[in-house]
Formats: sequence, C-alpha cells, structure tokens
Amino acid sequence: MSISSNILIVEDEPSIAELLAINLQHAGHCPIRAGSAEEALRVIRDVLPDVLLIDWMLPGMSGIALARSLRADARTKGIPIILLTARSEEGDKVQGLDAGADDYITKPFSPKELLARIRAVLRRRSPQLTDELVEVAGLSVDPSSRRAMYKKGSESQEIRLGPTEFKLLHYLMAHPERVHSRGALLDKVWGDHVFIEERTVDVHIKRLREALGQVQCADMVETVRGAGYRFTSQARAAAAATAA
Ligand code: CA
Repeated sequence: MSISSNILIVEDEPSIAELLAINLQHAGHCPIRAGSAEEALRVIRDVLPDVLLIDWMLPGMSGIALARSLRADARTKGIPIILLTARSEEGDKVQGLDAGADDYITKPFSPKELLARIRAVLRRRSPQLTDELVEVAGLSVDPSSRRAMYKKGSESQEIRLGPTEFKLLHYLMAHPERVHSRGALLDKVWGDHVFIEERTVDVHIKRLREALGQVQCADMVETVRGAGYRFTSQARAAAAATAA
C-alpha cells in the first residue's frame, strides 16, 4: 500500500472520470478532477498533484500536448504522468512516452492494473510518496509507522518530530545531496505553494534541526545560501574519516 496521494484525473468523459475517482478513493487516494487540459493547468497552478492521469483525447488541448507542456516546466516536470487512451497502436504508445508520459494504459483497463501502475510510477519518481523506509547514514524514516530513528552502533533512538517536520525530513532524505528551494519544498511537502509564505519553510527547518539535534544530526540539514536546503551525509562522512 502506498500512502494517500493527490491524483489529478484529466478526462472529459464524466462516466470514466467518475469511475476512476471512485476506484482511487477506495484505494485511499485523493482524486481531483479536470474535464480538460486547460482546467488541469489551472488546478496545477494552485495544487501540485502527486500523479496525473491524462486522457489522450481531450477537447481543446490534447493529452499529449498537456504532458509535453508539463515536462517543459521546471515546477511540474517531475510529476508522474500516466496516459489513458483507447488507442493501442504501438506508434501511439511511442508518441505518448516521447511526450514525457511515464506509463501508458489502454482502455478498458482494470482498476487493479491502474492502481498497480500508479504505485510503480510513484516508487520510481517519488520515493517519498510510498511507505518504504528510507535510511541514510544511520538515520531512518519509516512512513508506515511514522517513526524516525537514529542508529549508532547497536543503540537505536527514536526522534520525536511533528507531522510537518516528519514529512519534510522524509522528502529531504528521499532526495539527498540535492538543493531544494523553499518554493520547491512548499510544492512537494506542503503540496500547495500559493497560500503559504516561504518563511514557513524556514520555521519548520529550524524545528527539524532542533529535533535532529537530539541525536546530534542537525548538521545533516544544510542551508545553501541563496538557494535553499540540502540533506547531506557527506559532511558527517568526512568528519568521521578525519576522526578515524
Ligand atoms: Ca476523452
């Protein structure tokens, strides 16, 4: 089971959109619906979905054109896309994948198959959206039990974190050694970048560092001046090498 994800369904056929939404809801996800590519773009401006299901044949802008435009935008290029289509020609499949889709599913499909494919793209693209344990340099976060632990030698200690700090740490650890801007963190951790100030990120980073300070790991969350934040175990590895 993956944890609840916001899934944007872009489908102009109401009966299919409804069927998809019901199945996704049943699986514990939060479906959002858009009847056209244009509407999808408006939704995405406010809320960044975790996965997009895009019908190929849409009125106005096509599903393929929507996939291309999302891939061309830095803010949306990492969102997993699954194209839905009645077509099954090999050439169409290639065209869909060329446009930036992660996967392709031909109608009619079973809900089970669709959910399995959603899980697969999430695992590939967004490890922080699955409930698999992430471990870096003795520090681990386990989304299924919502626990963060630090292990040193044979000693294991739990780190107490608020819900936002937990999500933030999980995201940073799933994407280590990379700089994340405050805007990107708002999009990925809060899922909404419109109504929250970037300063909020700094507040939660500060709390996260204080919590990590309980196990002397505060230095793993680095500030990159003028750019954002980075989770790193390299400074720690270098210090250990010097000490040894
Ligand atoms: Ca359609």
